[in-house]
Amino acid sequence: MQITFLGTGGSIPTPKRGLSAVAIRRKNELLLFDCGEGTQRQMIQAGIGFHKKAKVFVTHLHGDHVLGLPGLLQTMSLLGRTNKLEIYGPQGIKEFVEAINQTVSFTLTFHIKIKEIEVGIVCQEKEYKVSAVQSVHMNPSLSYALIEKPRPGRFNKEKAKELGVPEGHLWSKLQSGESVKLTDGKVVYPKLILGAARSGRKIVYTGDTGPSKLLVKLAENADLLIHEATFEDKMKERALEDGHSTPSIAAETAKEADVKRLVLTHISARYKDANLLLNQARKIFANTEIAEDFLRVELPLHED
Ligand SMILES: [Zn+2]
Ligand SMILES: [Zn+2]
Repeated sequence: MQITFLGTGGSIPTPKRGLSAVAIRRKNELLLFDCGEGTQRQMIQAGIGFHKKAKVFVTHLHGDHVLGLPGLLQTMSLLGRTNKLEIYGPQGIKEFVEAINQTVSFTLTFHIKIKEIEVGIVCQEKEYKVSAVQSVHMNPSLSYALIEKPRPGRFNKEKAKELGVPEGHLWSKLQSGESVKLTDGKVVYPKLILGAARSGRKIVYTGDTGPSKLLVKLAENADLLIHEATFEDKMKERALEDGHSTPSIAAETAKEADVKRLVLTHISARYKDANLLLNQARKIFANTEIAEDFLRVELPLHED
């Protein structure tokens, strides 16, 4: 799983920071969290294609999180995308996407499935799910968790041979958790061949938010917490007023939720050097980084 930060600025872009968007490539699918203005150009620069199976998860309808959608949809159409695109977001997202389609003159070449969602499990796939909680920002606004389901344990080849299962498609069936029948009628169950199930990975993307117990719960034991940190610590009051966070608020959440890694994003345009924010967070949670546009994070599969 590869995470690419496409836009890491808050509210207004700067020469170095585009507006909020995080791309997660998981197998052959693209999961995009927020789509700030300029996302399509950032995708081109990052080498992320426009034709893949894809879902977009929008946290809220502030311009710096959604104004990239019109351009993205147009470019996808000009490039002749045919794959369906799923767009998830809070109430209002449907009207916004429909308005783009009705008022901007271009012909969509693919089907868009828009899902207006609330909190809880908002997307359920075979290998993963996406959950959302209300964030402390505006109403409605969401924070998301991408949670992979456990995958089958390690395949014991020696054991498979010993039990007389021939190499080939029967091995794949067992690996995917199905029992198989041999030519002599004997049934072999996957539990005889597979080790214990291996846990999936978890990534949490906060969108814009102030501190929240719901978010701590959502982020519990995450491999990666992508948390906004719009303002430095000494602007805490302003941050709380506007439904935003400081580095210390983000770091406290990371610590309380016992996540493995914290990346700060949505950095206000007032900070030319974000190291100030980084140092504030690291005092509380050491494994913190500041996102820059095009930062890439690889999350390897768990082998537990
Ligand atoms: Zn924002
Ligand atoms: Zn906002």
